[in-house]
Amino acid sequence: MTEQTTPPRLEIRIIPVTPLQQNTSLIWSTETKEGVFVDPGGEVDKLMGAADQFGVKIVGVWLTHGHMDHAGAATDISERTGCPIIGPHEDDQWLLDELEAQGAKYGITDGRNVKPDRYLHDGDELDLAGNTFGVAHCPGHTPGHVVIYHKDGGLAFVGDVLFKGSVGRTDFPRGNHQQLIDSITGKLWPLGPEMRFVPGHGPLSTFGQERQDNPFVADSITGYQGTATQEANPTDQKLAKRWS
Ligand SMILES: [Zn+2]
Ligand SMILES: [Zn+2]
Repeated sequence: MTEQTTPPRLEIRIIPVTPLQQNTSLIWSTETKEGVFVDPGGEVDKLMGAADQFGVKIVGVWLTHGHMDHAGAATDISERTGCPIIGPHEDDQWLLDELEAQGAKYGITDGRNVKPDRYLHDGDELDLAGNTFGVAHCPGHTPGHVVIYHKDGGLAFVGDVLFKGSVGRTDFPRGNHQQLIDSITGKLWPLGPEMRFVPGHGPLSTFGQERQDNPFVADSITGYQGTATQEANPTDQKLAKRWS
């Protein structure tokens, strides 16, 4: 008997953009070559060049929240490709309406205001070429922040909710630190400790790693206790290999 192997179905490249080095993700189906950008914050030519390099047809822009370094290139990409802009939650529309003003503060002039084709809500599902992604509403850094995750592949796109060794800033207007911590423990940790995540800035990590040693949200600080049913399914590790 030979071990059954699952060929890769999704691929991802992380492309840092803007002076804030925001992690834009390009995710695509290896079967159909259809792809999406998660949080295209700027440098639209660089992003579209990456899509061309891998032969990816862009069919969507998915946004985690309304900050300029995450959403600034969404309108340009939508106009160039005809794809819809999906997310974040409508509670971030006030930020999407002032992206151009946000960018000016940081010397970024290529960001444009955004009107999404669809807002996202807790429990929604997104599809990319037959691959299902889940949505969790995680307010705190911004009121309309969402996290988008691929449960089968064990990978989450968490924007500025959580970082390796830190959490999102909450000193912006309408930020709320306790709400942020509650979002992390209440919405992210139940996805399982094996879940890897792409943060908005900096290196990848796993929820389990952050539960051990993140100075803001380690279990020793939050008192979080995962139950047996909340622990990751052992097959998650294998499925994570779908991502390269
Ligand atoms: Zn942000
Ligand atoms: Zn950011």
